[in-house]
Amino acid sequence: MKYVAPSSVEEATSLLSTSPSAQVFAGATDVVPQLRAGRSAPEVLVDLKKIQELVSIVKDDTKWTVGAATPTANLTEDQAFSEEFQGLSEAAGLIGSDQIQNRSSLGGNLCNGSPAADSVPAMVVNGVRAVIAGPNGTRVLDVAEVVTGPGQLSLEDDEFIVEFEIDRMPERSGDAYLRMIPRTEMDIAVVGAGARVTLAEDGSIEEAIVALGAVAPTVVRVPEAEAALVGNTPNEQTLSAVAGAASEVCNPIDDKRGTIAYRKQVAGVLAKRAVLIAVERAQQRNGMK
Ligand SMILES: Cc1cc2nc3c(=O)[nH]c(=O)nc-3n(C[C@H](O)[C@H](O)[C@H](O)COP(=O)(O)OP(=O)(O)OC[C@H]3O[C@@H](n4cnc5c(N)ncnc54)[C@H](O)[C@@H]3O)c2cc1C
Repeated sequence: MKYVAPSSVEEATSLLSTSPSAQVFAGATDVVPQLRAGRSAPEVLVDLKKIQELVSIVKDDTKWTVGAATPTANLTEDQAFSEEFQGLSEAAGLIGSDQIQNRSSLGGNLCNGSPAADSVPAMVVNGVRAVIAGPNGTRVLDVAEVVTGPGQLSLEDDEFIVEFEIDRMPERSGDAYLRMIPRTEMDIAVVGAGARVTLAEDGSIEEAIVALGAVAPTVVRVPEAEAALVGNTPNEQTLSAVAGAASEVCNPIDDKRGTIAYRKQVAGVLAKRAVLIAVERAQQRNGMK
C-alpha cells in the first residue's frame, strides 16, 4: 500500500483517475480501524489533509465553506460557527473523543456511509451541500443525496468531496441535534435526531426540517412532522404529531443495542426534544425570549 499526500485538488483527482484502487482519507479514524479489521487495502491511500482548501473554515455574507477534511474540533472551537449552527457544532462535538475530533472530518463522517454518523442529520437539516471534485471538474450535491445505503455513496470512484457549503442561518432560526447512546460517551448512536426551525414574526413556526439517523439505511427526513409544525407553535398537540411521525418513518435494525420498538420510541422522543431546543434557540437568537 502506497501513501501519497497531494497538495492540490487537481493532483488528487488525477491520482484517483489513474489508480483504480486508490482511496482518499482525511482523519483515518474510520479507515485505519477498518484496515486493521481486515478490510482489503487499497493500492494507494490518498491523504487529503495536505490540500489547504480541504482544511479550512471560511465565512462570507451568504455562506460558510468548510473544507471536507477539516478536523471536527476546528468546528466546535470556532465560536462564530458554533453560535450560528449550535446543533451542527454539537453533532461534530459528539464524535468520539477529543483525540478523535482532532482528526475526524465531516467528509469522512459522511463518506464512511454509516447510518449512525452523527454529523449527517445535523447537516441535512441545515441543507448543507457537498462540492465534489472529479476528473471533469466539480459538481454540487445536497448532503442528503450523497449516501445511498450503508457504506454506499453516489460518488464515482474517482470523485471526492472538497468542501461543504452551508448557507448562513436565516433570522429567527435555530438548529439542534440529539442522540441516544447506551453508554455515556464513546458510543455509536442508537438514534440521532436533528431539527431546524425558522419562526415567523408572530412566533409561530414558518419552516421546519426534521431528520433522523441510525433508524434506517440512510438518514431520513420526517415530512409529516415538518408539516405538523409549520403554521403552529410547538404545543402538546404538534409535538405529539412530531413524535408519532418520527416513530412511524423509522425502518431500524433490531440488534443487541436496541430493538425495533425501542428505536422507534426513542426516535419520537428525540425528534420532539430536538424541535423544542431548535425553537428555543431561534427565540433566543432573535431576542424573542
Ligand atoms: C474511538 C472512535 C469513536 C468514534 N465515535 C464516533 C461517534 O461518536 N460518532 C460518529 O459519527 N462517528 C464516530 N466514529 C467514527 C469516525 O471517527 C467518524 O466517522 C469520523 O468523522 C470519520 O472522519 P475521518 O476524517 O477520520 O474519516 P476517514 O477515516 O479518513 O474516512 C472515512 C471514509 O470516508 C472516505 N472519505 C474521507 N474523506 C472523504 C472525502 N473528502 N471525500 C470522499 N470520501 C472521503 C474515506 O475514503 C473512507 O471511506 C468513531 C471512531 C472511533 C475510532
